[in-house]
Amino acid sequence: MPERTDSESRKLLKRLRDTLAAPGDGQARLDSITHHIADSMGTQVCSIYLFRDPDTLELCATEGLRRQAVHQTRLRLGEGLVGRVARTGRAINTANAPSEPGFRYMPETGEEIFPSFLGVPIQRVGEKLGVLVVQSRDARQYSEDEIYGLEVVAMVLAEMAELGAFLGNDAQLSAHRLPAVFRGVTGQEGAAEGQVWLHEPRVVITNPVADDPEKERARLGEAVAMLRQTVDEMVTAADLTGGDGEGVLETYRMFTRSRSWLRRMEEDIDLGLSAEAAVEKEQSHARAKLEATADPYLRDRLHDLDDLSNRLLRILTGQGQDTGLAMPPNPILVARNIGPAELLEYGRGLRGVVLEEGSVGSHAAIVARSLSIPLVIHAARITDEALNGDPILVDGDTGVVHLRPEDTVAAAFRDKIAMQAEAQKRYAGLRDLPATATCGTTVRLLMNAGLMADLPSLEGSGAEGVGLFRTELQFLIRTRVPKRSELAALYRRVMDNARGKPVTFRTLDIGSDKVLPYMKRIDEPNPAMGWRAIRVGLEKRGVLQMQLQALIRAAEGRDLHVMFPFIADCDEYYEGRAMLLAQLEREAAMGHVPPTSLRIGAMLETPSLAFAPDAFFRQCDFISIGGNDLKQFFFAADRENERVRKRYDTLSVPFLNLVEMIVNRCAALDVPLSFCGEDAGRPVEAAVMAALGLKTLSMRPASIGPVKALLRRTDLRALRALIENERAGGTTNMRPAVTRFLAEG
Ligand code: PEP
Ligand code: MG
Repeated sequence: MPERTDSESRKLLKRLRDTLAAPGDGQARLDSITHHIADSMGTQVCSIYLFRDPDTLELCATEGLRRQAVHQTRLRLGEGLVGRVARTGRAINTANAPSEPGFRYMPETGEEIFPSFLGVPIQRVGEKLGVLVVQSRDARQYSEDEIYGLEVVAMVLAEMAELGAFLGNDAQLSAHRLPAVFRGVTGQEGAAEGQVWLHEPRVVITNPVADDPEKERARLGEAVAMLRQTVDEMVTAADLTGGDGEGVLETYRMFTRSRSWLRRMEEDIDLGLSAEAAVEKEQSHARAKLEATADPYLRDRLHDLDDLSNRLLRILTGQGQDTGLAMPPNPILVARNIGPAELLEYGRGLRGVVLEEGSVGSHAAIVARSLSIPLVIHAARITDEALNGDPILVDGDTGVVHLRPEDTVAAAFRDKIAMQAEAQKRYAGLRDLPATATCGTTVRLLMNAGLMADLPSLEGSGAEGVGLFRTELQFLIRTRVPKRSELAALYRRVMDNARGKPVTFRTLDIGSDKVLPYMKRIDEPNPAMGWRAIRVGLEKRGVLQMQLQALIRAAEGRDLHVMFPFIADCDEYYEGRAMLLAQLEREAAMGHVPPTSLRIGAMLETPSLAFAPDAFFRQCDFISIGGNDLKQFFFAADRENERVRKRYDTLSVPFLNLVEMIVNRCAALDVPLSFCGEDAGRPVEAAVMAALGLKTLSMRPASIGPVKALLRRTDLRALRALIENERAGGTTNMRPAVTRFLAEG
């Protein structure tokens, strides 16, 4: 076989492009493509295998193998050489295919007379679409140029597949057309139907093949120059001089100047690809490597390259966030991952959220909860499959997502939504009734809030007040630090809307995953245990003081309840309290009307505080258990790391013992106690907390109905007896016994 030249490659790509442009069904196109490739490469065989489902590859077209095998020969992912190419995303080049490990002989194809084999993946930025294979009669290795050339062809096939070129008749390629089901994990219960809205939409390349390499090189050059400028500006704006972050961003910046990256893309262009297809080809390579390597340094670099490639593609195609596309009427946000600030920016219009990553304990999940929309996390590869506007059903109860559902699935789903609406109606009937258990104990149910828009739920849910107002959400949705007057106006409106019901404001809990867009980002190895919450407030005193002044001004002539988050040491609370009292004096001296009463509390979110001396508890007007954080530090299990988080149960005896100890200490010292972590909103957990003696629970508004319904039919004294009994008998986890008890009751 002759060495391939750039002009031969370009000729082949042009033929492929003509095939795409010509009328015809998908199968006819595939047949003609295999013919052109074999002809151009001088091989006896060219075959295209495409995914029939995520685990099965099917021979969809061939030149040279037996035609009867088309749509008959199938391989599982990883099976045979073809399956291995698909699984690893890497080429296999061999002069003697039968001697390769894992070779699988497929007699129906008649391939035994073609010992040499070159297979390359057909993939599009991490999305596996199939495998392209050439085979020859003479036992020979293919040259580097040939491999490279075939990879370029595979890239064009991937783009053609994306454009739907192989659909119709027998070809069966399903890219972005067929129904798909994703099994993830529940982040927030509920069901929603809507249309996909991608957080970062896929870039669609309509012109993978280009005629004029000079012009494409120039386009690439301009785009890279623009990319460098944006990244330079970004690095300067981030101003991380001297910090750990500086090195990271500097490496990122250096990448934009990588000669080898640019050279590889230029070589792709010389072989006939357009500038954007060249960027994407190198991005696909990087993704395949990323999936294969465990080396953290290399992974970071490959992530950088992936990110830069995305930026470059947006510059070249003009696509991205600013496409001017309008959100569909019932948008369901689909993303790899999202931070709380970004999610808040989308606001209340969203019907649901589906993430590939994410975690139940993250603040983005809390925001989704506060928005009362279903959230499914760990829906692997959904961003590869979903396109803007695709119909989608999100089942937050089971963690299942149906993309482009069949009519029958959609109909069943609508029935489920209707049933949930029915249940909501039943809960609404309980709204004005107390959460009094059958034994006579009454539990105060409060709601958690963080946005002005949460306040109407106070009325609708029947909550007796706001037990936790997360003030940082207001900071997260802005592009600059809010002014004191703005904050005071906001807090005033919150209290006005609460109409006399108590609101407990928690001072800023920033840091961890709640990064303010306008705050210098510091890279910490363990941000959840790092510089966050009260630790920031006591060091950056200006912001905390300003917030306290705003709260005092907002309260004028009303009761004010303030609590400090993440107190790990008594002195932190004493300092915060002293600061608040000093602001009160200052405000009074300035002539502002003081609150009628001021109650100051601490959030108990670290185990250390449970062991604080009695004197500390006496200094607190109230204590609120932040169960989300308390649990993660008690079990040393990151609340955002799904893998470890779910190993530990709130109803495990050690954690309940800790809660009980706090309940007893507060009761002995007469300090009002509440629980405001997410567990308070889970009916079974809520019943157990109440049985242990917690008299106040604060939860997301939608949980109040279900929690109240369960409490009203439970004998908390009997539940308590059961817990004690089980514990005495050596039970380590109360869930099975408690669930049985509650189901019987
Ligand atoms: C908690 O930790 O339980 C809590 C209520 O605070 P946040 O979830 O905002 O950290
Ligand atoms: Mg917390």
